[in-house]
Amino acid sequence: MIRIENLHKSFGSLEVLKGIDLHVRPGEVVCIIGPSGSGKSTVLRCINRLEEPTAGRIIVDGKDITDPKTNMNLVRAEATMVFQQFNLFPHMTVLHNVTLGPVKVRGLSSAEAEERGRELLAKVGLADKAENYPDQLSGGQKQRVAIARALALQPKVILFDEPTSALDPELVGEVLEVMKQLAREGMTMVVVTHEMGFAKEVADRVIFIDGGRIQEEGPPEAFFSNPENPRLRDFLGKVI
Ligand code: ADP
Ligand code: MG
Repeated sequence: MIRIENLHKSFGSLEVLKGIDLHVRPGEVVCIIGPSGSGKSTVLRCINRLEEPTAGRIIVDGKDITDPKTNMNLVRAEATMVFQQFNLFPHMTVLHNVTLGPVKVRGLSSAEAEERGRELLAKVGLADKAENYPDQLSGGQKQRVAIARALALQPKVILFDEPTSALDPELVGEVLEVMKQLAREGMTMVVVTHEMGFAKEVADRVIFIDGGRIQEEGPPEAFFSNPENPRLRDFLGKVI
C-alpha cells in the first residue's frame, strides 16, 4: 500500500531524514516510535505531501506521489492524516467537518455526504453530536470526529500523528478503542504514538526512528521483549 524508498528530508542545513525505507502492506498497522524531534511527523507529512521530500520516492497504492503531476487533494484523501491537535474547522458543525472533504474531493452530493457522515459519526459513537460545534466537545470526542472525517474520505491508509498526545489521560482510551476497531476491520494504518500498550497490542510491526534513520523494526513481541539496538533500549527504558 505504501512504498517509501530512500526518503531524505532536509530543512535548510538540518537533515532530518537520512534515508528511510518502509513498505506497508494493505491492512497492516505499523506503529512508529522514537524520541521527540527524530523525524516521525516528517515521515508522515511526506507520505501525504504536506512536506516535499528532498530526495527519494513514495508510492501510495501504486501511485508515485512525489511526481509533481500528482493531484495533491487526491493524495491527501488516499493517505489522510489525523493530527495531535485534531485540526477541526471551528466554525463548522461536526457534521459539516465530516462532509466537506467528500463533497470537494470525492465529488459526492451533499445528501450522499451527509448520509455517510452520519453513519460514520454513529460508528465513532457521536451520532448525537452532528449539529454541535467542535468547541462544545471534549478532546476525545474531537479526535473521534477527526477520525470520522478521515474515514469519510475513503482513504487507502490513515496516518495518525500522536492522536492521543493532546488528550487528558481519561480520554485516551475512547480514541484508542476506535483505532483498534479500524485495525480489526482491516484499515491500513501508520501510527506515530507514545502509547506502547497500543503498539504492543495492535501493531503488526513497530518501527523505531532515531537520528533520521530506522534503527530497528519488527513484530511487537520481539521488538519490546528483546530490543537489540542500544538506542532503542535506552528509549524504552525512559518511556515504559
Ligand atoms: P518528531 O515528530 O519525531 O518529534 P519532527 O518530524 O516534527 O519530529 O521534526 C524533526 C526535526 O525537524 C526537528 O528538529 C524539527 O525541529 C525539524 N522540523 C520539522 N518541521 C520543520 C520545518 N517546517 N521547518 C524547519 N524545521 C522543521
Ligand atoms: Mg511529531
